[in-house]
Amino acid sequence: MAAATLLAERGHQVTLFDAAADVGGQFNLARKIPGKEEFAETLRYFRNRLNELKVDLQFKRHVSADDLKGYAHVVLATGIVPRTPAIDGIHHPKVTSYIDLIEGRKQAGKRVAIIGAGGIGFDVAELLSHANPHSDDPASPVNLEAYQKEWGIDVQYGDVRGGLTAPQMPAAVREIWLLQRKTGKLGEGLARTTGWARRLLLQKRDVHMLGGVEYRKIDDAGLHIAIDGKDQLLDVDTVVICAGQDPRRELVQGLAALGIAYTLVGGADVAAELDAKRAIAQATEVALEL
Ligand SMILES: Cc1cc2nc3c(=O)[nH]c(=O)nc-3n(C[C@H](O)[C@H](O)[C@H](O)COP(=O)(O)OP(=O)(O)OC[C@H]3O[C@@H](n4cnc5c(N)ncnc54)[C@H](O)[C@@H]3O)c2cc1C
Repeated sequence: MAAATLLAERGHQVTLFDAAADVGGQFNLARKIPGKEEFAETLRYFRNRLNELKVDLQFKRHVSADDLKGYAHVVLATGIVPRTPAIDGIHHPKVTSYIDLIEGRKQAGKRVAIIGAGGIGFDVAELLSHANPHSDDPASPVNLEAYQKEWGIDVQYGDVRGGLTAPQMPAAVREIWLLQRKTGKLGEGLARTTGWARRLLLQKRDVHMLGGVEYRKIDDAGLHIAIDGKDQLLDVDTVVICAGQDPRRELVQGLAALGIAYTLVGGADVAAELDAKRAIAQATEVALEL
């Protein structure tokens, strides 16, 4: 979106292909996480700019290298492929990818284990522990009253000091275990200014956060793990996989063989962390260089 917009602004003729039916890629998942609703506004901005600049938008087009013959340059912003960890029973029906879960193709049960406590693991825990998941109404995506109660905010500024009152936690909607292989505190890689709040929120919602976890197997009984060599069974009915991402680069070889110039940006370049800012910066730099 960023590369197409700036290239068109600079007078290039641009075609934007996407296998999906609309722009946005993973932003369409991010905007469904409570607290990240504003990502929808970024999409609205780019959608409008792309239309104003008359970029040729080709949706529902999963392109191959051959489809890209004749273009002077290809900006490869093809994103990521989620990792599937090698755990015995990984194809059990109670296992779901974060994508199927966030998009609503799979429903979580009342007891859920989340494998992987990076940015997406935390987002999934936030989504599943939320008593008032946001609505799809762009005018009012957040239930403001519920948010104020949960954080103890008194907007009347009544007799209470600092506009703060006792937080009222809604009843837990499910029991959740957020797990990571690494030892130590969960969420250390989260953004410095917001990570503490995200961790605190999950603590307040009684999400169990476990580090140093070895995954043994998944079966009808649940998720079998070991911590410090001690076996445990988490008798969960859903296991959500948030075990990292790899760059999606399936077009690279074909483009190289055809001698078509390309540049990798965003997740297709580095998939290690959630970083839309880097993706947009890289795309902007490419567009300025071409
Ligand atoms: C739940 C969640 C929460 C997130 N939260 C944040 C956050 O708080 N802050 C942040 O900075 N980032 C966040 N991110 C990450 C952010 O969304 C990504 O960094 C960003 O979307 C990367 O953009 P991208 O252009 O690399 O590709 P993507 O958004 O992955 O898009 C790739 C696109 O390429 C298309 N595609 C792939 N192959 C083909 C093909 N052969 N033909 C046609 N189309 C193809 C796909 O359909 C897709 O639309 C989050 C991601 C998720 C999943």
